[in-house]
Amino acid sequence: MDKSNNHPYDELLAAYSAGSLPLSQALCISVHLEHCQSCGQKLQQLNHVGSELMQQLKPSKVSDELKTRLLGMLDSLPDDLPDEESPEVDLRVPRCLRQFVDKYYDDLDWKRVSADIHSVELCRDSNGAKVELLKIKPGGSATTHTHMGDEYTVILEGSFSDESGLYGQGDFLVRDENDQHTPVATQDRECICLAVTEGPIQFTGFLHRLLNPFIRRGYA
Ligand SMILES: [Zn+2]
Repeated sequence: MDKSNNHPYDELLAAYSAGSLPLSQALCISVHLEHCQSCGQKLQQLNHVGSELMQQLKPSKVSDELKTRLLGMLDSLPDDLPDEESPEVDLRVPRCLRQFVDKYYDDLDWKRVSADIHSVELCRDSNGAKVELLKIKPGGSATTHTHMGDEYTVILEGSFSDESGLYGQGDFLVRDENDQHTPVATQDRECICLAVTEGPIQFTGFLHRLLNPFIRRGYA
C-alpha cells in the first residue's frame, strides 16, 4: 500500500540506487521505502538500469592488494542477520532504524528542546550532518526556522502540517536553506520524525534570532 504523498525526487533515488548518497540521506530514503511501494518499484527499475550499465563496462585489472582487501571485507561480514521480527521489537519502528531504537521510541533519552518539542540525536554522518528524532506534542509547533544546508525529514508517527501542506506517516520532505517553515503537529496525537540537518538551523523568530550564535556552537 502506498500511503505516502511526498517522495524523494528522481535524482535522489538514482543516487541512492548508485550508492553515492551520504549515509544520513540514504537512511531517510530507506525509511521512506518501507512505507512507499511506488518508490520501491522505481528503485527496482533504477537498480536494473544500473546493473545493465555495469555489464556494459569493460573489465579493468585491479591490483592484488585491492583484491585481497575486498575478499577480506566479504569474509568479515556477519553470517547471521539479526532476527528482525523478534516479538521484543516494537514493529512500528522501521527496520532500518532498529540499530538506534532498541524497542520503543519511549525508551529513548529524549531531550527537551522547547515546550512542544523533544529530540534525541541518533548519530552524526561523516559529512557532519546531524541525524535525530524529533517528537512534537499534539498541536505543538516547531519554531519558524531556516537551515544553513538541506533538511531531510521522514514522518514516523502521527502527522504535521506546514506552509506547504499536510504530511503523514512515511512522507519524505526536503527543505533547503531558502525555505522557511513552521511544522505544526496535528491535534490528535504526537508526531515523531526522523530529521537530518546538514547545517545549523537558523531560527527566524525575534527571540530565537538572539540565540543563534549559541545554537551554531552546538554544531562546531
Ligand atoms: Zn515514495
